[in-house]
Amino acid sequence: MAIKSLRTDILVVGAGPAGLTAAIYVARAGKKVLVLEGRSGSRLAIPYSIENYPGFRSIASGDLLGLFRDQAVAFGAEIVAGDAIALALEGRPKYATTKEAVIEAGAVILATGKPMPRERLIEGEDRLVGQGVSYCATCDGPLFRGARVAAFGHAEEALEDVQALVDMGVGVVWVPGRSGGAADAPAARALEDRGVAIRREARIREIRGLTRVEGVVLETPAGPEELAVAAVFIFREIPAGPLFERAGVALDHKQCVAVDRFQRTNLPGVFAAGDITCGGLQVVAAAGEGCVAGLQALVYLREEAQAG
Ligand SMILES: Cc1cc2nc3c(=O)[nH]c(=O)nc-3n(C[C@H](O)[C@H](O)[C@H](O)COP(=O)(O)OP(=O)(O)OC[C@H]3O[C@@H](n4cnc5c(N)ncnc54)[C@H](O)[C@@H]3O)c2cc1C
Repeated sequence: MAIKSLRTDILVVGAGPAGLTAAIYVARAGKKVLVLEGRSGSRLAIPYSIENYPGFRSIASGDLLGLFRDQAVAFGAEIVAGDAIALALEGRPKYATTKEAVIEAGAVILATGKPMPRERLIEGEDRLVGQGVSYCATCDGPLFRGARVAAFGHAEEALEDVQALVDMGVGVVWVPGRSGGAADAPAARALEDRGVAIRREARIREIRGLTRVEGVVLETPAGPEELAVAAVFIFREIPAGPLFERAGVALDHKQCVAVDRFQRTNLPGVFAAGDITCGGLQVVAAAGEGCVAGLQALVYLREEAQAG
């Protein structure tokens, strides 16, 4: 198959709420914008009901994604299917390569989201995603107020998420899965005083339940132990990926793309928005960052044109 050559003013890598909002602003300002849509799809493509996107009391995730998409296309954005497999971002112009095309752009907005974990370490996790297995305390915690849940993860992010669950009135059994992590920090000991059971000696071997999470099987030094829980929150650190590192994009201590308050990365003309920055990990935050990134990419192009 022949590789196509495409040219655009601004390339947006990722077609979730961050990327599509950026595209709406750029296209509406009259610039050519191409949105690259990877195979993994937006987290909004996973069916759930959103109750915290302003303007909608409740809306299905897929419907909201469809509205973002229609609006971007109506203003003239072009959506092209393909995963960016290589990026050349340090010079001018910038290039992204997919299996089918090489795309040349004046500026680039990275909006590839936070990938779902590829490693499915716990038996039953895959089968029960959205049925009690969650990766997002802010999103799903309120559904389990007053119930007992298990939390898995040992990174700093896990500690913050367990705190968030406790603040929401969720009963948490935290199984960090490794010693020496955030579960040993003083803040974790304070959580124990607030009723969180931290099972440092245990591992989650299996998540049980036919159509919904009903419990977990823990592996402990004393042998297997069954624990009834209504949900399992999984907090693993998920790196933004070697794709960006290879392209020279700086990541922060959480392996998220580092940005300033104008969504600028360390590379001139390269912006990042949405879950990829680990900002709010919410649709409204992704859309907000996408707006700023789109506007700032326009400013960058204007200044470049003035500088000749
Ligand atoms: C089960 C669940 C429930 C949730 N509940 C809520 C909720 O109630 N409220 C809320 O506000 N948020 C919720 N969220 C979070 C919300 O979905 C995300 O914060 C939001 O979708 C992030 O938007 P984004 O544009 O940054 O990334 P995404 O929506 O993940 O989009 C990323 C895009 O990048 C593309 N991509 C990835 N890699 C590449 C590549 N190499 N090349 C090209 N394209 C690529 C993907 O195909 C996709 O189009 C929930 C998430 C999940 C999973």
